Amino acid sequence: MKINMVSLGCPKNLVDSEKILGALGAAGIEISDSVEDCDAVILNTCAFISPATDETESEIENCLGLVTNGRRLFVVGCAVNRYGDELKRRYPNVTGWYRLEEIPALIKKLAPGAALNLRTRLPTTHGFTYLKISDGCSNSCSYCTIPSIKGPHRSFDMNDLVAEANELADSGFTELILIGQDTTRYGADVYGKPMLIPLLNRLSGIPGVEWLRLMYAHPRTIDESVIEEVARNPKICKYMDLPIQHVNSRILKSMNRGVDRHRIIEVVKELKHIADIALRTTIIVGYPTETDDEFSELMELLSQGCFDWLGVFPYYREPGTRAAQLPQLPEEVISDRYEKALALQQELLKQKNKERCGKTYRTLIHARDHQFVGHAEFCAPEIDSRILVDQGNLVLGRIYDIQITEAVGTDLRGKETNEDEKGGN
Ligand code: SF4
Repeated sequence: MKINMVSLGCPKNLVDSEKILGALGAAGIEISDSVEDCDAVILNTCAFISPATDETESEIENCLGLVTNGRRLFVVGCAVNRYGDELKRRYPNVTGWYRLEEIPALIKKLAPGAALNLRTRLPTTHGFTYLKISDGCSNSCSYCTIPSIKGPHRSFDMNDLVAEANELADSGFTELILIGQDTTRYGADVYGKPMLIPLLNRLSGIPGVEWLRLMYAHPRTIDESVIEEVARNPKICKYMDLPIQHVNSRILKSMNRGVDRHRIIEVVKELKHIADIALRTTIIVGYPTETDDEFSELMELLSQGCFDWLGVFPYYREPGTRAAQLPQLPEEVISDRYEKALALQQELLKQKNKERCGKTYRTLIHARDHQFVGHAEFCAPEIDSRILVDQGNLVLGRIYDIQITEAVGTDLRGKETNEDEKGGN
């Protein structure tokens, strides 16, 4: 039996996909990297906003077109949790549908009698990998479907995470990117108190782990001790992903973000005390009832440059959310604000990247196409600017000193520096 996996959506989905492949591989199932050359395709889906659901549906149609001659298609994940009945009616030729919590059943179906071992992963990245420390979310922001898809926040067992991290380090990963829906809430549910710092300390002690990167922190659950730990611990990247979604207190209240403008400014200020820290955030523009002034307030804060990386989402009216019941803004207003926010995002990116030219950064080389692709502490792989190096004989997964020579589009170009050139920062 040969299996191919198509993994849509976020890094949390990617970890699930790698674990499914790891369990099947451990059961002797051959993993094919081509949809054409396999006996069955597993499609791991995403459906948190309508564009993601559209992508899932077009991928189902695409895979259905390919699974002819007795080959099978198994659809799993978020879209099945959210729209299972509807999708089953629309695509009766799909062999099997599996909700997130039915992943063990899918593995049993494909590898009857196999020991279900969801800790072995078949990593699909080089040098860096994701460590999913929790799943689900208990914040219930008014516009968000994730709690209804994934259920409440569940922290994973710390010993299991440390064991998984040890295995990843043993197989050569130097960077672990900590992910969840709300990573700064880690531990509160199972240990009765936040346990992110003890987890970070145990991960820092694993031989071979050089970088720990924190994604999906929440201004509601982050506290001073976490910020101090990021500053103190040399293994923790001077980088943080802190989605704020907005900054106007009335909008934040309507979004049920659990924080107001004052708290967001306070958290950002404290983080910016950490030398050389790079901050990423995500915003939603065009949220129901957002006024011109409230939108301008958000743009005004962002134009101050406190964030290095900016993810911008136009508001989507998602069925089943509380925000969908509110008076909606006209589509043209939402797309106009989206264009304006994207323009600011590009401006910020260009400005920040210009400031990095001439400086030297420890850079982890994580991919190679017609050139080497890397990233440094200030930029996360797969979402922020890439560092492109087109000379030298670099090894995937290793960290080099790279001097940034120029900004090219949304990326940076650099060259490896030798000892006497390391005058930069
Ligand atoms: S924090 Fe809010 S936006 Fe993020 S997953 Fe949870 S409910 Fe959704």
